[in-house]
Amino acid sequence: MTNVITAPHPRGGPPCTFTARSPEEIEGIAGNLAAAQREWAARGVQGRIGVMGRWRAALLERRAEIVGALAEDTGRRALCEAEFDGSVRRLDYWAEKAPALLGSVSKGVSETVPGVRYEHNLTPLGLVGVIGPWNFPLLLVLIDTLPALLAGCAVLAKPSEVTPRFVEPLFDAVESVPELAGALRIVQGGAETGEAIVECADAVCFTGSVPTGRRVGARAGRRLIPAFLELGGKDPLIVLGDADLDTAVAVALRASVIATGQACQSIERVYVHDSMYARFVERLVAAAGRVRLTAGRAGGGHLGPFIDPAQADRVQAQLADAEARGATRHCGGVERRKDGDWCAPAVLTGVNHDMLLFREETFGPVIPVMAFADDAEAVRLANDSEFGLSAAVLGDESHALAVARRLRAGAVSINDGGLTAQVSDVEKESFGVSGLGRSRTGPSALLRFLRKQALLVQTGTPAPIEAFEETGNPD
Ligand code: NAD
Repeated sequence: MTNVITAPHPRGGPPCTFTARSPEEIEGIAGNLAAAQREWAARGVQGRIGVMGRWRAALLERRAEIVGALAEDTGRRALCEAEFDGSVRRLDYWAEKAPALLGSVSKGVSETVPGVRYEHNLTPLGLVGVIGPWNFPLLLVLIDTLPALLAGCAVLAKPSEVTPRFVEPLFDAVESVPELAGALRIVQGGAETGEAIVECADAVCFTGSVPTGRRVGARAGRRLIPAFLELGGKDPLIVLGDADLDTAVAVALRASVIATGQACQSIERVYVHDSMYARFVERLVAAAGRVRLTAGRAGGGHLGPFIDPAQADRVQAQLADAEARGATRHCGGVERRKDGDWCAPAVLTGVNHDMLLFREETFGPVIPVMAFADDAEAVRLANDSEFGLSAAVLGDESHALAVARRLRAGAVSINDGGLTAQVSDVEKESFGVSGLGRSRTGPSALLRFLRKQALLVQTGTPAPIEAFEETGNPD
């Protein structure tokens, strides 16, 4: 039975219908990739960099087409351009770093058995499955694909079925470089296709929600293959009493609402010191009111529509729950229009941790604000979450750093918010349910695709069986 999927259009345009790859097709594709992987690895890192350079040129030739399709998929343009250009920069970054990382083979003499010399042989994991989400659909597939390919792995990648339009031009760019096309395949599909990929791959990189991440992790666990999981967040921002008020308002707003809040590192909870809480809320509400939707505009505006209509339902349900439990919404909220589902920045006070707004990921431009009395209370509130992706602290730098060290978050931005969206060369590992496995940024992003095989050379005389003779028999 063919599995036809229909993706909506975020601005109310024509939907996109496509056929998902069946599990049988995935099995066949994975078999071909696994065979091609050996040849890909045998090219050596410089050979792979050369091929990837040709792919870079093919991507740039199709920039307008890929960005245009991404804009149709996501209902926004400037962020799609940044997403494309940022992906190309990542390709350049990894092409520059890969030779040294792959050449950094450790060797020496064992300290526990001094007669044994060792060296490590780095061997690629094989076929890596990459499964991506819809919020930054190109970047969040390439983020794992690029280092995996340079490490010598083949890649079978499946972007989200919610944003399928950019896949065809991306696929064309791969196919135009035959040496790459054997080692990289991009396929369309939903959950069933994703499950089939996890069944065939030697390792899986998954970016998406916590519930799906649990399913992917369980399946990978049954197969005993590595799973690198990058999941949701509920990132807190702490504004200390010694923070600059104007900076705090500007950071809280931008880091909460950019990309209509549809970013894993979005600030979703703001805690402000008692001494500036009232002034902060007043200025934040005023600043939020100046943010414009791109709805109905030929150009201009700051926030696009929700990419996935289901997201508007989720945000609306969380706002309704908060208001039913006594929260005050000062501005913003979900707007359903013919040209899509929108949300102007919503600032809420009178909130507490029993509300869905604090328990579940929101993924929308919603800013609930609470006051705290001292550092201990700020840390307790920020850590009161099962998520632990990232966080932010604003204030005097040494004070902010001291607070940051007490937070359960994989990365903490100091005197800014959401810096992990820009900084890609520093390692970070999530706490709680926000992820599993080694960092996808910094050196380990590439090294995690290599198995360390130890080559142990006996330089002395191998021990004979007589060395193991029992001296006292227990009978
Ligand atoms: P999702 O979990 O619904 O889907 C993600 C991908 O998994 C899609 O490609 C989907 O087809 C696939 N999938 C669904 N069921 C599957 C299964 N059983 N087996 C294998 N694959 C399956 O996530 P989403 O709604 O597309 O994305 C939003 C989520 O992604 C948010 O929770 C967000 O926080 C998270 N995210 C995390 C990061 C990060 O770096 N930590 C980055 C971006 C987004």
